[in-house]
Amino acid sequence: MQPLPAHEAPESANDDRFDGLTRLARRHFGVMAALLTTGTEQWQRIRTCDGLAFGIAESIVPFGVCWVHTDGVLVVPDLHCDERFRAHELVMAEPQVRFLAGCPVRAEDGGVLGMLCLLHDQPRELDTAQLLLLRELARLAADLLARERADAELRRELEVLRGSERRMALAIAGSGTGIWDRNVTTGEIHYSTGWKAMLGYAEHEVGNRIEESYTRVHPADLDYVRATIQAHFERRTEAYEVEHRIRCRDGNYKWVCSRGKVVERDGAGNPLRMIGTTTDITAMRSMSEQVQQTATLLTDLTDEIPGMVFQFRRDPDGHSYFAYASAGVRDICGLTPEQLKADARVMQTIVHPDDLLLFLESLEASARSLAPWHLEFRVQLPGQGISWRQGEAQPRRLDDGSVLWHGFITDITERKQIEAELQVFATTDSLTQLANRRHFMQQLEAELGRVQRSAGHRGAILMFDLDHFKAINDRWGHSVGDQSLRHFAAILGKQLRKTDAAGRMGGEEFAVILSDADIDEAVTFARRIQQELCGAPVVHGDERIPLAISVGISTLDAHDASAESALSRSDIALYRAKRAGRNRIECN
Ligand code: GH3
Ligand code: MG
Ligand code: MG
Repeated sequence: MQPLPAHEAPESANDDRFDGLTRLARRHFGVMAALLTTGTEQWQRIRTCDGLAFGIAESIVPFGVCWVHTDGVLVVPDLHCDERFRAHELVMAEPQVRFLAGCPVRAEDGGVLGMLCLLHDQPRELDTAQLLLLRELARLAADLLARERADAELRRELEVLRGSERRMALAIAGSGTGIWDRNVTTGEIHYSTGWKAMLGYAEHEVGNRIEESYTRVHPADLDYVRATIQAHFERRTEAYEVEHRIRCRDGNYKWVCSRGKVVERDGAGNPLRMIGTTTDITAMRSMSEQVQQTATLLTDLTDEIPGMVFQFRRDPDGHSYFAYASAGVRDICGLTPEQLKADARVMQTIVHPDDLLLFLESLEASARSLAPWHLEFRVQLPGQGISWRQGEAQPRRLDDGSVLWHGFITDITERKQIEAELQVFATTDSLTQLANRRHFMQQLEAELGRVQRSAGHRGAILMFDLDHFKAINDRWGHSVGDQSLRHFAAILGKQLRKTDAAGRMGGEEFAVILSDADIDEAVTFARRIQQELCGAPVVHGDERIPLAISVGISTLDAHDASAESALSRSDIALYRAKRAGRNRIECN
């Protein structure tokens, strides 16, 4: 036997009527007891009982289970004479029941609702009128039970509704949303408790006139709010939605989003009733303001930084574009951000042709290895000369296989100019403008390398030393000495081919590399210098100062361990020339 679900066994105000029913039955039939069971075909329980203790009556129930199956009224005039009941404890012992009549209580669909029973301690009969009455009473019980069930069902549904209403109210309250309902005709507006609480008002602190509502709207927003509502009233918009400030109880303003819709109109289309919600969006607004401020700060920063800040992206299909380029793009590339955003290939039109391959390869290498991109390159902007740029960027591979670089390009033209000047300064002798000793030795080293690398490539090295130069200084003064040094350097420079090199090795000593030349060619060269020097003396005022020079010549040897060792052979030859009387050429 299974207990009934709670809602099917309601305890209700109907119980009085059930009691009345059994009381009436007992009195009318003049029996010891009348009782009503309820339940299903499988299981019955005593619902009400008159004339018997409840506990005793309960032992009747098992009878009821078999009675229920009876179609009509069951009447057992004397239980002692009936096999089914003779041995039952209620028959054998107190209260010694002798008579039993039972009528099923059925719902309209025929389903069993219960059983109405009469018990008596004497044998007896029921006549036709009494049977009819018992059936009438059972039908009455059926009505009462049906109503009770309907009531219970209603209560249950109400409970479910209340539950969902509570949940919705909680959800609305939790979302910071309030509800309003406006009668457009009368100008009345009602706000939900949540609406009032959202703005800090107690229930009674908000009036229900629309005029008062408008006093809470921020004066600067009022016209806009009114116009938006009017547009919806006139059906120009599908719904009313507006963001505005509204005054809270404490005098501060909150940003809210107010949404609504006309839900009733009269025959002419005039609005009658409008309902809507108000949502607190203060936090959202301040967040979006912060985001806006951050974005502005970033743009300002990138635009103010000299140079161009960029985000460059290359898709897996090879298409590349600048997702972002700061305002500096105009100075750096002579292009607009839009041009670069459309297609990065426009860069190729400004990169100097000699650097373009390097530019493309360096990007390719950075994409492959994800190593930082760093490049100094030249650009040729329309209407401008060549200028230098330096690019730096950090690559990152994205999930879809694209590569994204963040970096910047700066103008390094000035730095490059200074570097070039410093380079000249570091490699040139300031008096003669020839290479200084250090730079000359580097060039000699390079030439030796060429001789060592390629068979058949030759090189000659010549050392020059002005004769009796000290005497010139002594006689004409130091500045005439300097003038003489410049004079000789100029003669030397004029005779050099592009592939040759000359340097001032110190004092009045000079050296020349003749690329791809042998001893004979070197001697010819040295003679030409001597003749030039002889034919063009230094002019000082009215005087002509004759100069002479000694030369030592040697060739570069693939076996030379260093440039110094090759040079020392020429030095030895020069020494011989001096010893042999000066103004001479000696070879080694
Ligand atoms: P030699 O024929 O043996 O070479 O005799 P020389 O006088 O030329 O040689 P020496 O080495 O005795 O003297 C070289 C002189 O060159 C000494 C030095 O004062 C002078 N001298 C070195 N550098 C400069 C310079 O930059 N300017 C001038 N005016 N004189 C210099
Ligand atoms: Mg000397
Ligand atoms: Mg000398």
